[in-house]
Amino acid sequence: MSLITIQSLSKKFGSHTVLDGVSLEIKEGQIFGLIGKNGAGKTTLMKIILGLLPADSGQVTVAGEVVRFGDTPTNRHIGYLPDVPAFYLYMTAFEYLCLCGEMAGLSKSERIVYAEKYLALVGLEKNKKRIGGFSRGMKQRLGIAQALIHQPKILICDEPTSALDPIGRKEMLAILQKIKNHTTVIFSTHILNDAQQICDEIALLHEGDFKLTGQVSEIMHAYEKSVLEVKFHSEQHAIIFKKHFPATTQNHLTFLCSADDLDVLQQDILQIILDNHLSIQSITKQQSTLDDVFLEVTSS
Ligand code: ADP
Repeated sequence: MSLITIQSLSKKFGSHTVLDGVSLEIKEGQIFGLIGKNGAGKTTLMKIILGLLPADSGQVTVAGEVVRFGDTPTNRHIGYLPDVPAFYLYMTAFEYLCLCGEMAGLSKSERIVYAEKYLALVGLEKNKKRIGGFSRGMKQRLGIAQALIHQPKILICDEPTSALDPIGRKEMLAILQKIKNHTTVIFSTHILNDAQQICDEIALLHEGDFKLTGQVSEIMHAYEKSVLEVKFHSEQHAIIFKKHFPATTQNHLTFLCSADDLDVLQQDILQIILDNHLSIQSITKQQSTLDDVFLEVTSS
């Protein structure tokens, strides 16, 4: 079922078209990655979904209800983590979550239950420090707990991993994967490796339009490269190989060989090796990354 439907949505800032009649459906029960480079319009789109910015034309529905600019009731379905979340730094994480729960209309007992539940989910249950002493990663994790306190159907996070170190990023990606079991997660990022690791589906926003949408597994399959890395032990054998195959040289012992058909490529390489009595160290298939796909799609 589609939780969010975006139909022919356009948005300009002055003469700069950020969204040019884009349409998209985001289904329930998944992690959806909104990807694009800085300035592509990801935050703008999220703010329109949240009713924080007016669209010039087009429509967004959340759980079947039309989003209205201003105080939209559709936000009861959404938890939001902005790119730079703000907190009351003198509070503990538990106090802050109880306050957020109160603002969301939860009863006192519900606030306590959910504050404890979501602090445990983000690994902050034992932390009694004031938020002012938290690391960036801890604040970001607390932001996730805050966004979930009212049990939304959808969690929207704007660049949740971008400002984190590798450990913080890994922790955040693991938390988003856990959340997916009960809440649909939409997150924006320009770090395509993060999207490739955890997203079920993605949409690539570029120059005002979705240049690519769909399941990550299908996209990666469609853009799979027929490239083999061939490594030799000896430079002499490498030179002979290079004479017979127009490969790209990685270094004096390693080559990248490509062709349209992987099976044919494999056979050709093995034939050259056999015919010339060459000994190889390894032949490895090169995996495409979402970065490769992004570059291919946005440069065409
Ligand atoms: P992203 O989140 O993908 O980095 P944004 O949605 O923040 O991109 O911005 C898209 C473009 O719109 C950028 O060129 C940005 O400078 C511009 N923009 C965003 N908000 C405003 C605004 N309030 N006024 C004018 N231009 C804006």
